[in-house]
Amino acid sequence: MKYRSTRGQVSGIAFSDAVMMGLADDGGLLLPERIPQLTASDLHQMADLSYPQLALNILERYIDDIPRADLEKLIERSYATFEHPEVTPVINKGKIHILELFHGPTLAFKDVALQLLGNLFEYLLARSGQHMNIIGATSGDTGSAAIYGVRGKKGINIFILHPKGKVSPIQEMQMTTVTDANVFNIAIEGTFDDAQAIVKEIFGDLDYKQRHALGAVNSINWARVLAQVVYYFYACFQVQKTTGATEVEFAVPTGNFGDIFAGYIAREMGLPIKKLILATNGNNILSRFVNEGDYSAAEVHHSLSPSMDIQVASNFERYLFYLYGEDSGRINKAMEIFKRDGVLPVSNAELSRTQQIFAASSVNDEETIATIGEFAEQTGYILDPHTAVGVAAAKRVSSGSCPLICLATAHPAKFGDAVKKATGKSPELPAAFEGIDQLERKLETMPADIAAVKKYVNQHALKR
Ligand SMILES: *Cc1c(COP(=O)(O)O)cnc(C)c1O
Repeated sequence: MKYRSTRGQVSGIAFSDAVMMGLADDGGLLLPERIPQLTASDLHQMADLSYPQLALNILERYIDDIPRADLEKLIERSYATFEHPEVTPVINKGKIHILELFHGPTLAFKDVALQLLGNLFEYLLARSGQHMNIIGATSGDTGSAAIYGVRGKKGINIFILHPKGKVSPIQEMQMTTVTDANVFNIAIEGTFDDAQAIVKEIFGDLDYKQRHALGAVNSINWARVLAQVVYYFYACFQVQKTTGATEVEFAVPTGNFGDIFAGYIAREMGLPIKKLILATNGNNILSRFVNEGDYSAAEVHHSLSPSMDIQVASNFERYLFYLYGEDSGRINKAMEIFKRDGVLPVSNAELSRTQQIFAASSVNDEETIATIGEFAEQTGYILDPHTAVGVAAAKRVSSGSCPLICLATAHPAKFGDAVKKATGKSPELPAAFEGIDQLERKLETMPADIAAVKKYVNQHALKR
């Protein structure tokens, strides 16, 4: 399988190059040249595989430049860190099925992708005799999942900037108690935007970037999308087995359109998904697009589901590419128009095609809290606020004609304040968190000063 960019200037590249490139060199996003099509007999044979076996079966359809035995080992290692034997179990509560994606080391769904990406980076760097220094800024979830993805890996150092005192205490402890020699936590005396601006500027210094072999772990890496395709299959098979249904629906709490795009790929491969329910919080650009064809950015505001506080969704261009009939010319034009006018052009036919695949709703903080409270009362199960956004949206727009699977993207203990507000009780901390506040910390505090950060990275970066 070869990969190409949505913008049309990069094509014919191998999977391993697509992983190392991240963002395509022409500014577009990388996609496979074709989406593998599964027959009914393929699906039948996949239905009883364990999670790692299923992951191997799906990934090898997209990867032909890593020997099968090596890929198998990478997958095994990536999911051995999950504390549930099924990796992503499906729990039935009332009328809905909850797909728990939070059994990885940082208790959020990003682990599913970043555990694999860390192992892939280490493997590919060793194979090419190279090294990499990862730099990123985080407001919470992505940074900790990235740190746990690459801790202890050879050939990689990671520098994660977070705004000092402005991430949740649990998130801060998760990050700073990782004391591996290749992990560097930097607490910036400033806001998340300050931290992000520093990272952007560092990446903009091309000489510095090259000299330090800088890399990123953002949500546009194709390997992240691919890893996420697997749990759609896994969950669909589990629910088909228990209900006898042929089709299912998924409700997906959405920010950067990465998770739900993986669902789109699964559907295009032939998994019988009737609809994908796209759930946003008050930052509703994506649900507006699905319902009205209006993709126009507004200001980001803070919500109780902070990992979805996003306006311009970095993975959306991938869907747009297919919607535009795989026409790079149109993508380039649309991106220019979006930059200039802040809106994306879509025809009525394209909107109605989108609505055949997706249903969407946006859910505000008040409804989020109410949903956590009601669900706890009715079923005894505690939803985290991101998952609650998905459940609330599904209640409004699901067809009701087939089983509904709601993606649970974080453990409720990660967002204890919202849960306490909804139920009157703080969620129980999972065993992995016990005693975390007693552990040794490793972090460096710095002013929001690009020169200071550059100097620190320079001192601690892996060098040739
Ligand atoms: C990142 C994240 C999301 C949103 O996922 P996207 O791929 O950006 O749509 C939802 N919930 C949680 C807990 C997350 O960390």
